[in-house]
Amino acid sequence: MPLTIGMIAHDRKKPELAQWASDHAGLIMRHRIVATATTGSVLKQSMPDLEIRLVKSGPLGGDQQIGAMIAQGELDALFFFPDPLQAQPHDVDVKALLRLVLVYDIPAAFSPRTATALAQSGLLKG
Ligand code: PGA
Repeated sequence: MPLTIGMIAHDRKKPELAQWASDHAGLIMRHRIVATATTGSVLKQSMPDLEIRLVKSGPLGGDQQIGAMIAQGELDALFFFPDPLQAQPHDVDVKALLRLVLVYDIPAAFSPRTATALAQSGLLKG
């Protein structure tokens, strides 16, 4: 059964997420992907066949939209590659999103290796 999976990456991490998603295309393509606007467009470039529901860009409310999906029980997993070396103007939104990930115990990965571990857990077998 397809899951709804959120994908977000900060700017300097977008290539890593796109690479990771391409490397795991067989798994990712089985699911419904929802991504913040810029992350989604970068994913689309490397995976043109991937259907992606775009929400707003993170700094314009996209992180909050994905957080709202978590609160409403509409998100099954989150792949979020934040940039630990650059301040984000929407830091409060990032924190709020992470808080909801914890409140609702959403399976989440924050780096390529944790993403691979999550993918290998069987969760994405669908
Ligand atoms: P973006 O948003 O995909 O629109 O860049 C991500 C973020 O910075 O939260």
